Amino acid sequence: MSEKPETERILCVGANYTKVCPILATHDTFEQAHYHLHQCILNYHNPSQFRFNLNSFIQSLRNITFALQSEKRKIPDFDVWYSKKQEQLKENDLLKKFVEGRNVVVKQGMLESKSKVSSGLFKFRKEKACVIMDIPPFTESKNVLELAKKIWIPGFVAPEHIFIGEEIGIKREWVIESISEKEIISECNSAWIALGNLVGEAHNKICVDFEFSDYCHHKYEEYQIMTETDLDPNLIYKWGWEEKKRKRKK
Ligand SMILES: [Zn+2]
Ligand SMILES: [Zn+2]
Repeated sequence: MSEKPETERILCVGANYTKVCPILATHDTFEQAHYHLHQCILNYHNPSQFRFNLNSFIQSLRNITFALQSEKRKIPDFDVWYSKKQEQLKENDLLKKFVEGRNVVVKQGMLESKSKVSSGLFKFRKEKACVIMDIPPFTESKNVLELAKKIWIPGFVAPEHIFIGEEIGIKREWVIESISEKEIISECNSAWIALGNLVGEAHNKICVDFEFSDYCHHKYEEYQIMTETDLDPNLIYKWGWEEKKRKRKK
């Protein structure tokens, strides 16, 4: 198929894709995986919701290639192109773990065995003096934080919280050993990018422009952290942090 001039090319980005996309099932499944990845990040501190969304993400990720195959008639020379792509995808070890095993379903026990929680003193949401704490990992973070407060106040932080920004916090990390030794969201993101490139190439083959970015996931590490003021934003007034800041500015 010859390339269409720029002006005639469809731009398949943003919410508009549902109206213009010629390979809607494929594009839609990619967006579904994206949605669940965001839900995982937002629910990092809620073990059940995190796990449910992680399973949905893995499922959607796997469904992208099925959707693409179901739309093969719309893509010229599909078989030759796709068999080459399949070879490439097979070389990606991480993707193989995510996509190949049809039975990859993350069960509660899989999260339990490899979850770390670091807790202690945080300053402006950065770890200052923390230790890895032994806690039942399948607990909601707010309960872990309550426990951390009992352990570290008043030893690490005075109950009055006299220094602005200094408070008790925890940093959580989820690892799914059967997929990777690394933190799972960063691995999900890498797998999602690999399939995004495939979806992009499929679009290009039918002269449609497709763009995606993982910029929106870069701040996931901030979601790994939970501090006292996250749980109760009114504490900055109770501890006088707001007042102190105002006085400093004068
Ligand atoms: Zn599209
Ligand atoms: Zn995103």
